[in-house]
Amino acid sequence: MSDISKVMVTGGAGFLGSSLCERLVDEGRHVVCVDNLYTGRMDNIAHLLGSGQFEIRQHDVTEPIDVEDVTEIYHLACPASPPQYQRDPVSTLRTSVWGTFNLLELAKKRGAKLLLASTSEVYGDPLIHPQTESYFGNVNTLGPRACYDEGKRCAETLCMDFHRQYGVNVRIVRIFNTYGPRMNRDDGRVVSNFIVQALRGEPLTIYGDGGQTRSFCYVDDLIEGIVRMMRGPDDFTGPVNLGNPGEFTVRELAEMVLQMTGSDSTITTLPLPQDDPTRRKPDISLAGRMLHWQPSVSLEEGLRRTIDGFRQQMACDGR
Ligand code: NAD
Ligand code: UDP
Repeated sequence: MSDISKVMVTGGAGFLGSSLCERLVDEGRHVVCVDNLYTGRMDNIAHLLGSGQFEIRQHDVTEPIDVEDVTEIYHLACPASPPQYQRDPVSTLRTSVWGTFNLLELAKKRGAKLLLASTSEVYGDPLIHPQTESYFGNVNTLGPRACYDEGKRCAETLCMDFHRQYGVNVRIVRIFNTYGPRMNRDDGRVVSNFIVQALRGEPLTIYGDGGQTRSFCYVDDLIEGIVRMMRGPDDFTGPVNLGNPGEFTVRELAEMVLQMTGSDSTITTLPLPQDDPTRRKPDISLAGRMLHWQPSVSLEEGLRRTIDGFRQQMACDGR
């Protein structure tokens, strides 16, 4: 590999993107982080700025971008938490569709590989269980989640059309719920909400009856899967599911967090948001076969690390 080759990470100041940037800088790669700080934070990447191998471009991916010598593009830019992507749904769609288009144009111009961070949300409220990549999904195109779900479905389509029409080297990963210590405390996802609520002694907010299920993957496992996909066989575009197949109800998660934090918080119930998927669990046999990947961090261990991280952050903030 040439000395000047650069890796671009869009959404690099966000939760997953910043962990990915850190991993790539640790490997000695030159990383260009592209982010408009919609949900990302400079705090997530400040420690990388002095490495001499890391640069940040504050840029909105809905506008075209060019970077010479880019050989790999990890395209993660897009809010991922339901309250965040529903805050400005039109902008979410533009980010997914125009953003992916602009990054594919860059990949085409520079002959770079592009990996799209897609999502289990392309399966919508799935009618088959667990979800395999061959399932086409069950998405309400008219509902409040559609800006994200349909945006990502269109982004996948754009990737495959650029691949077939222009020969762009693309890879698609469908990420299932991922959590870890660097999550933004206020971003509204279930793991960060429950941990912060438990540590503050506030009631844990279960939406609906808490019987809905999710599969939770620890961030380090996920990043390993993404990197393996980027470096995997050139003829393997995916899509490939990346997630931890352990399946838990939201109520089980709340009880684990209460027990592990030793909190005496109570549990309160709030209405279930519209179109909230009932069950979700990845079939990861394709990732096992093609990438020799499987997650290794149990939910209990991952929660322990995440709770420790949030405790430290909150102690620093004096809250
Ligand atoms: P995040 O919200 O923490 O990070 C998203 C990043 O993208 C932020 O830094 C944000 O500022 C940036 N961004 C948003 N719109 C942008 C734009 N128009 N231009 C430039 N930057 C922009 O979310 P995350 O959990 O780190 O998710 C990263 C990616 O992974 C997303 O594409 C998301 O859809 C995908 N994903 C994540 C999960 C998960 O559980 N974390 C699950 C499925 C898919
Ligand atoms: N949820 C909850 N309480 C919260 C936040 C979320 O019960 O404070 C539920 C939400 O309704 C969903 C699940 O937890 O059923 C996962 O939500 P999250 O927003 O983390 O991700 P999603 O999988 O819905 O995109």
